[in-house]
Amino acid sequence: MIIRYTVEELAFRDEVRAFLQQALPADIAASVRLGKHLSKEQHQRWQRILSKKGWYAANWPVEQGGTGWTVVQKHIFQEECAAFGAPRLISFGVNMVAPVIIKFGTEQQKAEYLPRILSGEDWWCQGYSEPGAGSDLASLKTRAVRDGDHYVVNGQKTWTTLGQYANRIFCLVRTDPDARPQQGITFLLIDMDSPGISVRPIITLDGEHEVNEVFFDNVRVPVENRVGDENRGWTCAKYLLTHERTGQAGIGISKAALAHLKQVAAQESCNGRPLIEDPLLRAQIADVEMQLMAIEMSTLRILAAAQAGGVPGAESSILKIKGSEIRQAISHLMRKVLGPHALPFIEAELDPAFAGELRHADYSSAPASEYFNLRKLSIYGGSNEIQKNIIAKMMLEL
Ligand SMILES: Cc1cc2nc3c(=O)[nH]c(=O)nc-3n(C[C@H](O)[C@H](O)[C@H](O)COP(=O)(O)OP(=O)(O)OC[C@H]3O[C@@H](n4cnc5c(N)ncnc54)[C@H](O)[C@@H]3O)c2cc1C
Repeated sequence: MIIRYTVEELAFRDEVRAFLQQALPADIAASVRLGKHLSKEQHQRWQRILSKKGWYAANWPVEQGGTGWTVVQKHIFQEECAAFGAPRLISFGVNMVAPVIIKFGTEQQKAEYLPRILSGEDWWCQGYSEPGAGSDLASLKTRAVRDGDHYVVNGQKTWTTLGQYANRIFCLVRTDPDARPQQGITFLLIDMDSPGISVRPIITLDGEHEVNEVFFDNVRVPVENRVGDENRGWTCAKYLLTHERTGQAGIGISKAALAHLKQVAAQESCNGRPLIEDPLLRAQIADVEMQLMAIEMSTLRILAAAQAGGVPGAESSILKIKGSEIRQAISHLMRKVLGPHALPFIEAELDPAFAGELRHADYSSAPASEYFNLRKLSIYGGSNEIQKNIIAKMMLEL
């Protein structure tokens, strides 16, 4: 089977390349290449550039400000962005809550929220998980009780990614504690500056503040902020998860990371010879590269089927598992290639007199923290074990 881009798709790829060459700010690309965390300002600047070009909301319908791209065009765009060092989009607003508002929201919600997502004015975060509700999401307990034209929300969310930057959170809350778990849940849009919300950082193993706990203490939320019917939030939740899982294979990102790994291995040496000439390392790199080529081919096959009207089912779980394993494997090899220079580099933990100079090349500053950070890939967005359950059920009929 031969899967090739059409002439039109190749022309589109050239257009994307020309745009990235001209529009992607050098400081942002440099941070991405070195594996550094981007600031809120850098994320927002890149979003605004894409929005101005009309390329920010690739997954929306054209009439709402989307691109109208085919699945293959979206894939090409992601690939090229990764190759040029463009940041991955923060998907909570544009690719998670927006599709839900477009499908289930009122006209008023569409008019209010979609333009603010497009312009980057709103930063959304996701309030699904709770201390007792992760894989078993339907056991969530955060309670919302109707009081006139408001809901009063009490409870706790956790692992809220970049909640410290957000001015809005979309939440699953329990509105009927007596119904079967999936049937008493409602989907709410909540302003983060509502009285009674507090955000507490969780500092992860890489020394970063990426995730948070969010507490709700008698938070009043207008009823008009409910998406869909009361107690029917599970439908919105499931719809959103299908969007969350698309594109998680991160092939473009893995390709860029692999190319970077090879470059670094060529610059680092062992016993006077470039590491890239070490047969064991070469075999390990070749192994991961073959896995990457195989998953790329699977992705293209799935995209071709989707383009022809098919709906991806458990295939997206396969891509999620394999894609996350490959990214973790590349970061593992990078850590090995750098040896002692990949010791955790956490600025806050260093001597106060430390002025931030590195003892080694600039590419050695981030790989250790990235290695730790990427452990998350096999957990969030539905852990890999849960994806295996889905494959077992849907494909193997076990
Ligand atoms: C970095 C990071 C960012 C996140 N960001 C967000 C966010 O922004 N918003 C949000 O709402 N959530 C977020 N999450 C939460 C994420 O969705 C959950 O961590 C995930 O769903 C797993 O839930 P859990 O952590 O409660 O683990 P558990 O569900 O307790 O699972 C623990 C382990 O048991 C396994 N397991 C559980 N049930 C089964 C089963 N039936 N069969 C086989 N194995 C099973 C799991 O796979 C896992 O290995 C984030 C998580 C991380 C790590």
